[in-house]
Formats: sequence, structure tokens, C-alpha cells
Amino acid sequence: MAKQNIKTKKEDIVKYWFFERLIDECGLSVDASDALERCWRCGCEHNLERCHIVPEALGGKDEPSNLVLLCHRCHIDNPNVMDSEIMWDWIRAYGVPFYGTFWGLIGLKEYEFIYHKSFVSDLIDLGITDVKEMHRLIELYIPQIIKDNIGHHYGLHI
Ligand SMILES: [Zn+2]
Repeated sequence: MAKQNIKTKKEDIVKYWFFERLIDECGLSVDASDALERCWRCGCEHNLERCHIVPEALGGKDEPSNLVLLCHRCHIDNPNVMDSEIMWDWIRAYGVPFYGTFWGLIGLKEYEFIYHKSFVSDLIDLGITDVKEMHRLIELYIPQIIKDNIGHHYGLHI
């Protein structure tokens, strides 16, 4: 991830994918109308960066067809691929239908990975079965639990 000395403008990347190539928005975390402001993988509005599909080191070019817009966290996670379809499959695989839910869902998955049990199962074991109370506790605890265990700041926008 070379520091952004990319010449292609973010506007041109959005124009290429969403208005020329007409990439299928179905399953993405972002709508075309928000693609200049929100990460294409997680839908958050932070630190939007231009991300090579085929990395520069592997001959990837500085042109709209080889770039997508991701937040800094997703940029770090993105796969190094030789085929833009794999990048789109990766972005789509993480798609969420509502803004602000991505990192909370990742947090719930991480909780299950760490404790080998879902957060909801643990709540049920504690006798908490009211759905509203479960939502309140998820919003309250998941960001903190995940942050404490793996050092990421998940769930900022649950
Ligand atoms: Zn992101």
C-alpha cells in the first residue's frame, strides 16, 4: 500500500465503476450516490483511500479500472489480486444492507471466534431473552469486547 501518490482522482474512479462500467450495486455496502464518500466494502465514511486492485508492485496501473475506494481499515485488509473480479467478489462478500452495521457484525463474528460461542448464546445463557435488551447489550459491549481483544476499534457506528 504505497502512500497515495496516485494521480487518478476519486471522482474518476466512482465515475468509471458506477456510471460507465455500471457495476452491479446489489450486495454492496454502498450506493452509487454515496460512493465518493463511503467505503465500498464497509460503508463507513472515514479515511477514504484509493486502493489498487492489481498492486503497483505487480504491474497494476494508476487508472480508474484498477482502483477502488476503501477506508483505511479495509485498504489494509484488501486482497492482492490479478483480477478485478476477485476484488469485487471480496467487496461483495462483506456487503451489508445498512450503513453503520458492518463493523458491529464483524465484531459479533470476532466474539464468536474468540470465545467459540455467539454473543447472543451467552446472553441467553445469562437469562436475557428480550430482543430490545439484547440489542442494547450488543451495542454496549461488542465494540469494547472486540477492541480489548484484538486492538481494533470495531462497532464505532453500530
Ligand atoms: Zn471500509
